[in-house]
Amino acid sequence: MNDLNVSKKTILIVDDMPINIQVLARGLNSDYHIKIATDGEKAIEIGMSENPPDLILLDIMMPGMDGYEVCHTLKKNPKTHNIPIIFVTAKGEVEDETKGLELGAADYIIKPFHMPIVKARVNTHIDLKRKSDMLEIMLDMDALTGIANRRHFDKMLGSEWNRAKRSGLPVSLIILDIDYFKKFNDNYGHPAGDVCLKLVAQTLNKCVRRSGEIVARYGGEEFAVILPSVNHNDALKLAEKLRSHIESLKIIHAYSNIADCITISLGAATTVPKDGLEPAELINTADKMLYEAKNHGRNQLKGEAL
Ligand code: GH3
Ligand code: MG
Ligand code: MG
Repeated sequence: MNDLNVSKKTILIVDDMPINIQVLARGLNSDYHIKIATDGEKAIEIGMSENPPDLILLDIMMPGMDGYEVCHTLKKNPKTHNIPIIFVTAKGEVEDETKGLELGAADYIIKPFHMPIVKARVNTHIDLKRKSDMLEIMLDMDALTGIANRRHFDKMLGSEWNRAKRSGLPVSLIILDIDYFKKFNDNYGHPAGDVCLKLVAQTLNKCVRRSGEIVARYGGEEFAVILPSVNHNDALKLAEKLRSHIESLKIIHAYSNIADCITISLGAATTVPKDGLEPAELINTADKMLYEAKNHGRNQLKGEAL
């Protein structure tokens, strides 16, 4: 998930004339980090990079790829389509501006410009971007525990599934569920149940650290862990690590039928995705394994490789 930072935002200035870049950069560099590009190709490269800008000031008339084409390319790519683009251009005809805005630009400034107006417009769009980034993060986050929610889980499982299909590497999935949690709630109260869920979520999250691995709140007291490129044996090892870490939290549960503290049951499943196989089958297998772990006495794991 994106970083929810409130630090200085980055603006990419794209213009084939270095003097134009200088004027804009001078006016904005006290409030923003500035990146520059003197042609369309470079602008797209920076836009697609690991550290994309938060806003782009884009000239239209440039040799090679013009600003309209840059805008069109960035707007049709899901990775970059949320970056607001403001055209800054000498092209002042109604048709030019209409075309720019229809391509998805957030704003259109005609040269010669007044720096205070450029600054005010940039500030407005950066503020909107901050809010939409925040919304994006919240949409994928479980409000109680702060970890990924079901929506994010579905998205990530889908993309890891497709990636694994291309690479031929396995995908493992662990689904786990707190044992006798209804009794915990009934006896200690719902607020205590919430505290327990948060602690369990944080603990799971700490155990799952490799890049691409994700812990999500799958349902009420159920969590799911996606493990890309992890074989079944390693998935079982991680499942056992999760089980023992939760047990060693020693969250008192005097009403559990199997222990004196909070425990979890886990189901692990592994497969190499291929055509004709759906992520739902991996979920079903992990779910089935979880059910077996519950039936065999809880506080344990079961697994199956598809
Ligand atoms: P089992 O060992 O078979 O998993 O039994 P269980 O009691 O854990 O399972 P059951 O599905 O019967 O109960 C789950 C409980 O989880 C019931 C529900 O009140 C509680 N729960 C679900 N979401 C939340 C939540 O957000 N906060 C709190 N405090 N409790 C929750
Ligand atoms: Mg349960
Ligand atoms: Mg349950």
